[in-house]
Amino acid sequence: MTASCVYLAADAYMVCLTHALSTEREEVMGLCIGEIDTNRAVHIVSVIMLQRSDKRKDRVEISPEQLSMAASEAESLATLMGRPLRVIGWYHSHPHITVWPSHVDVRTQASYQFLDDGFIGLIFSCFNEEKETRAGQIQVTCFQSTNQSPEGEPPNYDRLEIPLFILPKDTISSSCLDALTELPKILSQEELEAYNHAAHNTQGSTTDFLTTIHNGAVYTKSLCHLMDVLSGPLMQCLENRLERNQHKLESLRQLKRSLQTQLQQ
Ligand SMILES: [Zn+2]
Repeated sequence: MTASCVYLAADAYMVCLTHALSTEREEVMGLCIGEIDTNRAVHIVSVIMLQRSDKRKDRVEISPEQLSMAASEAESLATLMGRPLRVIGWYHSHPHITVWPSHVDVRTQASYQFLDDGFIGLIFSCFNEEKETRAGQIQVTCFQSTNQSPEGEPPNYDRLEIPLFILPKDTISSSCLDALTELPKILSQEELEAYNHAAHNTQGSTTDFLTTIHNGAVYTKSLCHLMDVLSGPLMQCLENRLERNQHKLESLRQLKRSLQTQLQQ
């Protein structure tokens, strides 16, 4: 049985979008945490960003370690929120290409549905310019796979679009906030791995002093770039929210005081 529709909480949606927009050259991916109700509607409350091990196009595989880590995170969130939450889907980005799932995506999705028939896939298309206006557009789709072959024949999977609704929210939940702050960590970890890889490759051969300096400079430059375009703006955005929340808190306190005086009169 497929899912009937998907409700994505606005804060989880924001985390996915921020993640998708953080990387223009490669696809990014993550897992969705949520639950499925008796009407087969999927409710996504939080997401987990994943570091990609294989950066080749269309290779969005999730390692068993990542899955088990996500499952235990979903479990602790379930205890915290008192809801039967689990890993209920995955998302990935399509930079510079259409939002529709590729054949590999549809097959990957089918393999997840084999384990859990409520499992859904989200795709975010970004950095994809509209031909006429040259305006950047962001598209999102939600899909599952269906087998078109008659029984007994080799499977032939097709995509099935699932209606997606974004649920407005006033606040960012703490699990979404944690996921958001994970992004600079993931990206700087990837830079470190690239640097270590380069350092390892040049080792052993005639140690070229200039190459060593060059690699170090490239690494420093990419970290500074990350701080400039991601960590800095993210911090500013969160500080703005904090300030707004403090104002709101103060006005609520004033309201409370005035209501209390009215009560005493
Ligand atoms: Zn894809």
